[in-house]
Amino acid sequence: MDIAELADLHIIDCHSHFGGEDLDAIDGMIEHQRAGGIDQTCVLISSFPGRSNANPEGLYAKAKHPSTVYLFPGLDYAAVARDVDHRLTYSLAEQVDRLAEVGCDGIKMLNGKPNYRKTSGLALDSVIYDEYFARLAERHFPVLWHVNDPEEFWDPEQAPEWAKGPGWLYDDSFPTKESIYGECERVLEKHPTLTIIFAHFYFLSDDLPRAAACLDRYPNVCFDLAPGIEMLHNFTKRPDEARGFFLKYQDRIIFGTDFAPGGLLSRIWVVRNFLETEEEFHVPTDERLFWPDHRTMMRGIALPEKVLKKIYADNFRRIVGPEPRKLDPRKVIQELDRLTALQDATGAPRNTARRVATRLCDENAEGGWTTPYVGRTL
Ligand SMILES: [Zn+2]
Repeated sequence: MDIAELADLHIIDCHSHFGGEDLDAIDGMIEHQRAGGIDQTCVLISSFPGRSNANPEGLYAKAKHPSTVYLFPGLDYAAVARDVDHRLTYSLAEQVDRLAEVGCDGIKMLNGKPNYRKTSGLALDSVIYDEYFARLAERHFPVLWHVNDPEEFWDPEQAPEWAKGPGWLYDDSFPTKESIYGECERVLEKHPTLTIIFAHFYFLSDDLPRAAACLDRYPNVCFDLAPGIEMLHNFTKRPDEARGFFLKYQDRIIFGTDFAPGGLLSRIWVVRNFLETEEEFHVPTDERLFWPDHRTMMRGIALPEKVLKKIYADNFRRIVGPEPRKLDPRKVIQELDRLTALQDATGAPRNTARRVATRLCDENAEGGWTTPYVGRTL
């Protein structure tokens, strides 16, 4: 069905990305998402040990579009680096408090993706995260957590062509899928009140009984629907079971697209068409993370409107908040000042924190944004 003919419901995309040189790209991204029926978007910032994160760009996006953008920034792993001046860092647990005070809506974690799990050498249940997870649980601050990848990425025979380019083909030198689940589940057992949205259906779309057992065991866990196109292929293999799952767990599933600037409408359309119609349709061939693939046809599960309403917005609002939280301009600038100094100290190739701080103050001279220190002092 054409995207314009799909249901007219309020839609929040819980899983989009923004970052990079072009700060103005956020305007076009939001406009483009609106064309796909998305009213509000949750920008996730991915962060990795050894690299400065794109939190400044995320803060810019939220400041520019305060009623549209929810923001889940990434952790600042400088906190656990050895070669950093720790007068410029905050512990992972303190970051929870600070990011909440800044006005962020949650935190994004990517440490469970197998390639980052391997290169970081940090187990998901490492003691370095203990206090951090405890603080998240205590504050009921949500995490959108990417843990694992589709099982076919470990199998060169089954891995789709599109996964090979980005290097998502895992040999024996990578941790196994089960070992990563093991680490993650030890975290959940230790901190049972953590509020977690697992990205990409926690990569359990090919094992719905296990997905159900996970949701039953951990009542504060939800799954997002951002492709991972394998998810829709797996549901297509057993449409009745998939539909039954969506009906039973309608309060625990959250719409997402993995949209980013320059993203294609087919990324939105494919998830919506699957949820809303009973059509049999070909996987979009214009998106580099969907195609080429040995799997071709998908089948929709035509969910009732009251279920769609929950998956599109109500579940996210219940877990994260009815509207995006307001940024505190003073605290935003403080954090950007800290990151400016940190990026100067670590010799980051471009100091986006300084750029964003300067720009926010220039653009919002009347709005309570104070002149940044831009790294001269802290
Ligand atoms: Zn993503």
